[in-house]
Amino acid sequence: MRTLRTRAELRSALRSIRRAERTVGLVPTMGSLHEGHLALIRRAREDHDEVVVSLFVNARQFEDLGDLAAYPRDEVRDAALAAEAGADLLYAPPEAEVYPPGFAAQVRLHGPLVTTLEGAHRGPEHFHGVATVVTKLLTLVRPDTVYMGQKDAQQVLVVRRLIDDLDLDVRLEVVPTVREPDGLARSSRNVRLGPDDRERALSLTRALAAAEQAHAQGERDAAAVRAAALAAFRVPPSAQLEYLELVDATTLAPVAGLDGDVLVAVAARVGSVRLIDNTVLAASRRLR
Ligand code: AMP
Repeated sequence: MRTLRTRAELRSALRSIRRAERTVGLVPTMGSLHEGHLALIRRAREDHDEVVVSLFVNARQFEDLGDLAAYPRDEVRDAALAAEAGADLLYAPPEAEVYPPGFAAQVRLHGPLVTTLEGAHRGPEHFHGVATVVTKLLTLVRPDTVYMGQKDAQQVLVVRRLIDDLDLDVRLEVVPTVREPDGLARSSRNVRLGPDDRERALSLTRALAAAEQAHAQGERDAAAVRAAALAAFRVPPSAQLEYLELVDATTLAPVAGLDGDVLVAVAARVGSVRLIDNTVLAASRRLR
């Protein structure tokens, strides 16, 4: 695996890859790699001749500067894990390579995709930061497929929308959420959880399991499923709830019934750590 720091180096490496008509899979990450990221890289490895992993902590998508400062970073470890999972190129640019002095562009979306759920709690600037950096990566790498995790379901919907709206010629592949043995979704932020926090963090897992159970038992009223999920969330010791919503799994519009695919999205805080998780109530339990 080669590590590249500049756009020029990356473009040059990609030129020879394209000349040889080799296909490219891209896995964007902010580093601090765990099994969730590695599942994306392994999928890209199975599907493509060349796998590009990007590693960049995108300050523009953090509204909480404390969270940005506390974000775990270990490039040496990340490089070893990415290589082992099958990456060919690691693009790890410095801040000034992505946002050089004078940088003035921004990709913005409108409507519920960026204003609800994470957008309501972190602010729509979060998704404008995501949309801008993902657009830059997609136009720079021009991959055949970009791989993203269902763990960040709203991010998937935002990126799917921008690929469609900006006519980007790339396939978006969604990889199911990788979990710890007890069900907690893998996250770079989990390393900041102490043993007591870890117990509280399972509130999210319990809530989603209760929603799935109610759905499996035939409950089709969204309010009733939400109530069951909230009750499970609140079993002590519990996390501090930010939101738990049932919404349309494509538009994020609120739903009253569970006839189509419904996304159950939850966000909560455990101390200073903010966690999100979700499940899809549908035959496949996956985002389409
Ligand atoms: P991040 O480094 O947190 O920006 O995540 C990079 C990519 O990995 C995103 O597409 C995430 O959705 C995905 N990802 C993060 N955690 C998981 C997980 N537990 N399972 C599957 N994908 C994940």
